[in-house]
Amino acid sequence: AETHINGNSISSLKIPKIKFTKLFINGEFVDSVSGRTFETIDPRTEEKIADIAEGDGVDVDLAVKAARVAFDHGPWPRMSGSERGRIMMKFVDLVEENLEEIAALDAIDVGKVLSQGKTREVPFGISVLRYYAGAADKIHGKTLKLSSQLQGYTLYEPIGVVGHIIPWNFPVGMFFFKTGPALAAGCTMVVKPAEQSPLSALYCAHLAKLAGVPDGVINVITGYGPTAGAAISSHMDIDCVSFTGSTEVGRLIMQAAATSNLKSVSLELGGKSPLIIFDDVDVDSAVNLALMGGFANKGEYCVCSSRIFVQEGIYDEFVTKIARNSKGITVGDPFEPSTIQGPQADKAQYEKVLSYIEHGKRQGATLLSGGKPCGEKGYYIEPTIFTNVKDDMLIATDEIFGPVICVIKFKTIEEAIARANSSTYGLAAGIATKDLNIANIVSRSIRAGIVWINCYLAFDADAPYGGYKMSGFGREFGMDALYKYLQVKSVVTPIHNSPW
Ligand code: NAD
Repeated sequence: AETHINGNSISSLKIPKIKFTKLFINGEFVDSVSGRTFETIDPRTEEKIADIAEGDGVDVDLAVKAARVAFDHGPWPRMSGSERGRIMMKFVDLVEENLEEIAALDAIDVGKVLSQGKTREVPFGISVLRYYAGAADKIHGKTLKLSSQLQGYTLYEPIGVVGHIIPWNFPVGMFFFKTGPALAAGCTMVVKPAEQSPLSALYCAHLAKLAGVPDGVINVITGYGPTAGAAISSHMDIDCVSFTGSTEVGRLIMQAAATSNLKSVSLELGGKSPLIIFDDVDVDSAVNLALMGGFANKGEYCVCSSRIFVQEGIYDEFVTKIARNSKGITVGDPFEPSTIQGPQADKAQYEKVLSYIEHGKRQGATLLSGGKPCGEKGYYIEPTIFTNVKDDMLIATDEIFGPVICVIKFKTIEEAIARANSSTYGLAAGIATKDLNIANIVSRSIRAGIVWINCYLAFDADAPYGGYKMSGFGREFGMDALYKYLQVKSVVTPIHNSPW
């Protein structure tokens, strides 16, 4: 089968009506103070979907004020965990009822394949929100014995007002990964979705209100990074900023936190994740694993397996098969049921990916398959595979964030570990082998926040993941993410005349 665009037909079916385009502050949809708007663009057609309110520093101030009042005086941090959990469960139910419409908003906004959004991303976001709804009444401190004259305990308290700055690659998923644990902790928050993908966050904020989340607890400011985003990271009245995005902007966030009020920071940044395939595996399954890890969500995945290390015994067979199978990936309109890969999220991303493909060719890597844009309009790119890649080529060192993977030959386990670790990033890794001992050795040796053995992209609400090295710090998912939004207080009292 050839890689192809689905007849260039832009489906008009199931395209959602855009209901929310304004900032969400203190439970109301409002225009930005400046009255300015920006366009959100459909990557299938390069045409405008809607004009969205452009928030900046002044609007962030208003949102922080609302969040501050909701935190300092409102019911949310003061109500019992089970009551918060009950409201969050209602929120989950509403998201579930509107799953299709939410998936469609991300499909039109960033080219996400609708069927995948409906069956994977939105359901996973729902499972994360449900997990934290269930965790809201399980936040416990410890009893401290201390010395014979003292007795104490610890209290875990919500950290306060949180700023969530999120990227465009998993708009609705990321909304729940960030707001879920912060809501459970009892925090209030200001969310800034990426300028490329504002629609689903506004929709979900509306559902949160319907579910009974009090006004001011979730505020959404749509707008650009250097204005609205920077106003969050440098705000004196935000207690914690949780950022997901590029390593470059991650540095700016830390600097802004350092030079403002020393707010706590967590950073989920880029990756260049290795998938190491040993020669005892079934080659067909390994090829499918590599295609899924490398090309899921058109490669716009921070944990994308962009470096595929293949042991020499199966290398030739692997290369022949991956070249053949990659051509079966149907690129096309995300609303068409047969589509596997949609368009890149926006023009900048599209151009960046194509320029990396040119670098790969110019630096002497072999273009095994793909390598070209496809379709007459829209930001479509063929799934692209390079071989004969040297570890210092740009396509092997830089995060491309598109459907471009490198297949690299290795001989020994030691070599695979060393080369897999030779990256400034450390977000995720995969291992394919039948040998349990090899799997155990490699998983302990890889410096990354999550390691998948004989699977890839196997996320679960209960499995924390996040960066080593320049992929950032702090974790999403599991109780680890909840503790980012809590702080611990020791309460100590004297005991008189205790013999213990
Ligand atoms: P980006 O860093 O440019 O933008 C991410 C968010 O930060 C957006 O909301 C943006 O408006 C905002 N922002 C931009 N400049 C800012 C500034 N000066 N101050 C405050 N906020 C600012 O990233 P992107 O290009 O939109 O997204 C792609 C990147 O995100 C990739 O590099 C990818 O690695 C990373 N990413 C990481 C993860 C992860 O979990 N580690 C997940 C998804 C994406």
